[in-house]
Amino acid sequence: MFNAIVITKHDEQLTELTSIDKSTLSNGDVTVDVAYSTLNYKDALAICQKPGVVRQWPMIPGIDLAGTVIESSSDRFAAGDKVLLNGYGVGEVHTGGLAQIARVKGEWLVPLPKGISLKQSMAIGTAGYTAMLSVLALEQQGVTPSSGDILVTGAAGGVGSIATSLLSKLGYTVIAVSGRSEQTSYLKTLGASEVLPRSDFESSAKPLAKERFAGVIDVAGSNILANAISQTQYGGVVTACGLAAGMDLPTSVAPFILRGVKLIGIDSVMAPMQDRLAAWDRLTKDLDLSMLDSMTQTIGLNEVQELAPQLLKGQVRGRTVVDVND
Ligand code: NDP
Repeated sequence: MFNAIVITKHDEQLTELTSIDKSTLSNGDVTVDVAYSTLNYKDALAICQKPGVVRQWPMIPGIDLAGTVIESSSDRFAAGDKVLLNGYGVGEVHTGGLAQIARVKGEWLVPLPKGISLKQSMAIGTAGYTAMLSVLALEQQGVTPSSGDILVTGAAGGVGSIATSLLSKLGYTVIAVSGRSEQTSYLKTLGASEVLPRSDFESSAKPLAKERFAGVIDVAGSNILANAISQTQYGGVVTACGLAAGMDLPTSVAPFILRGVKLIGIDSVMAPMQDRLAAWDRLTKDLDLSMLDSMTQTIGLNEVQELAPQLLKGQVRGRTVVDVND
């Protein structure tokens, strides 16, 4: 028997920390002794029983996990290997990482990159890996530090904190947007040159506004993304990964057809393995690990249900690692 957060559904959904055996786990060719998981926005949605994330019950939430292989019939991994996993429907349609044991498909696993610990890999987690995918997308579209300022929205959250830190270390000038003015000094420590209030981006967007940004990493969607697009300079690049403000995008074609602005979607869940390996490789090189530690808190499995609603309200700063053995 081992501990896990389990979401069940009868008439209503119920989330509880409980003791289960391996029969609750989904099928897979690799069994992992999980050391750490994380609390991402999507995990909080699942734990708080919001619709759209969990699509099969009973479900163990947790879209990320890191640990040591204990059994494997995959030719990619053997017992003793240190591994991590992000996405692929784990914690949504396949039992996930908020448990002491996980059973998954070997093809989903990433070998723990050299130079980081299991715990640091979960401090990065899907949020950090998505931040890196977003930075790589800006680079692939030709944005460089000399192109101009980069806007990061939801900057005090998980994706935003890591994106701010990464971009700053790479030499970009980062303009952070945050709804929490009390996080200004935190964001400046991560490398933001300026912190703008979220309220500047919440009204309806004009089709075109003053050109201010060479690139954008947006986690918010809705009016915030629309305003960011209309303030992107000629030829600039906007990446969109999130919906913290909403699923809608009330914009016009003007920035695309008059300024050649590019809007790039970022998906971490089904990203091909080669993109994951490239992102993790760059994370080990370009992320300041002391900065990562400073933006990370660690909790036990028994604290997950208390923190999840706070995360959905935008009250949690940076990254949260879950020590599943605590
Ligand atoms: P967090 O909750 O850690 O951060 C989200 C941040 O967004 C908050 O900290 C807050 O930052 C800001 N925010 C909160 N509420 C609102 C609001 N109503 N309007 C505008 N901004 C708001 O989440 P993550 O960083 O883990 O994820 C961010 C988003 O990215 C989520 O929507 C998530 O689902 C998505 N995501 C998508 C992925 C993909 O593969 N496409 C992968 C990972 C995440 P502040 O206080 O600084 O304003």
